Amino acid sequence: MNPFDVETLRRSLDGAALTPGDPGYDQGRAVWNGLIDRHPAVIVQPSGPRDVATALATARNSALEVAVRGGGHNVGGAAVADGGLTIDLSSLDQVVVDPGTRTARVGGGARWQQVDTATQGHGLATVGGTVSDTGVGGLTLGGGFGWLTNQYGLTCDNLLSAEVVLPSGDVLRASDTENTDLFWALRGGGGNFGVVTEFEFRLHPVGPVVQVGLFFWEEDRGAEALRHMQGIIESLPRKAGAIIAALNAPPADFVPEEHRFRPGYALLLAGFGPEPEIADVAQQVRAGLAPLFEFTTPMPYVALQQMLDETALPGVLAYEKALYLDRFSEPVITAVTERLPLRNSPMSFLPNMFAGGAFTEVADDATAFGGARKPVVLFSIGAFANDADLLARDRQLARDLWDAVAPHSSGTGGYVNFMTDYEDDRVRASFGAAKYARLARIKAHYDPENLLHRNPNIKPALA
Ligand code: FAD
Repeated sequence: MNPFDVETLRRSLDGAALTPGDPGYDQGRAVWNGLIDRHPAVIVQPSGPRDVATALATARNSALEVAVRGGGHNVGGAAVADGGLTIDLSSLDQVVVDPGTRTARVGGGARWQQVDTATQGHGLATVGGTVSDTGVGGLTLGGGFGWLTNQYGLTCDNLLSAEVVLPSGDVLRASDTENTDLFWALRGGGGNFGVVTEFEFRLHPVGPVVQVGLFFWEEDRGAEALRHMQGIIESLPRKAGAIIAALNAPPADFVPEEHRFRPGYALLLAGFGPEPEIADVAQQVRAGLAPLFEFTTPMPYVALQQMLDETALPGVLAYEKALYLDRFSEPVITAVTERLPLRNSPMSFLPNMFAGGAFTEVADDATAFGGARKPVVLFSIGAFANDADLLARDRQLARDLWDAVAPHSSGTGGYVNFMTDYEDDRVRASFGAAKYARLARIKAHYDPENLLHRNPNIKPALA
């Protein structure tokens, strides 16, 4: 082992190596969750795969803990370790669209806003996250739910190939025809197997204009509203996406002044098909349970992809816990409606995405993604605050609510991308025994020393 020497590292990089005090260092160590305040020994900003390999070799030779940063959105701060070496991929953010083949090559550190803007320039899109500064890297490698999931599956279902720097320093391409075991593992198995410097995605014609609807019910009609929304999502057209949220009405122009900040329940709909199709769903929503207020409008797809950005601004103090539900059953509705009014921070909310349609049509064993391929509500409890004390109180509430709902979940573990702490038993449960065992064999082949472990970690199988 060699003591870490930043000058030696700098000489062997085309990109940058930042240490405490360097311009850009604090920006490089800041992640989305404002609660995380860690100081890596060095932040490497690679200019390409060769630099990534150099960074990995330096970390191994100097016994520095490796962290990989895509968009920095992991709530637990996986992208930074005190005294470690962060590979900050933000400089690898190019997006190259080929409208002829309907594919895009996307740098491993790009964010969804860059992908959405570039692909929409050609009237195309892939399944991206619902908050536009989330990283493509972590979201894709863990699965990836978005507004288009009902229509086109998970983000990882749309991955065609990836360029990967292995912990050994070798650079491989993984696809359906090359390094197929690695390709399988990358689609849901997280950042366990290598550093992805480029993703290639399948694109689909989308928009440019989509229909959006928001329907809001007051808190004391929560049970009725949740039952009603459950009925709506069960018959949601394939060309539509839905989020069921419990939140405070935002202080936005479209919210009548007297209802701003009011706690309640909301159904958010996005329609990608013909306008009358989603208008029909909106009519069913109103007719079934008159909302306190509603807002429906056409909007550009890129705007839809940024619509929720303000609900989750970088720097907020955050904690999150999630699981899959088959549906909002009566015990779940009771657990939610009893506990939610007790929340302390007005920023805390429950964003629950629905996935059906194309998501359910991918064979369970086609990818490493752990959740069962049946219609699910991705039930997520977000404790958010600007104040550590408020956050601590809502964190406890989030845990209590999670404990109350867990016995009524679909029983397939949780979504690895919505874990604040990558607890070993939860990670194993998320993949299930068979997938975990297969992933562990692949891990043993590509990363036998478990150099890449700040992720939903797969322990290398013993030989
Ligand atoms: P990072 O913290 O940078 O990375 C997360 C993990 O991925 C780390 O283990 C990291 O090492 C690894 N990683 C990242 N990039 C690479 C790479 N190129 N190669 C190898 N490993 C890599 N998820 C959804 O499915 N849908 C959503 O709509 C959605 N919305 C979100 C909104 C917000 C505000 C937040 C905070 C999260 C959201 N998520 C969503 C969860 C999101 O998918 C995860 O937080 C994901 O880890 C973010 O990826 P990142 O690259 O930004 O994170």
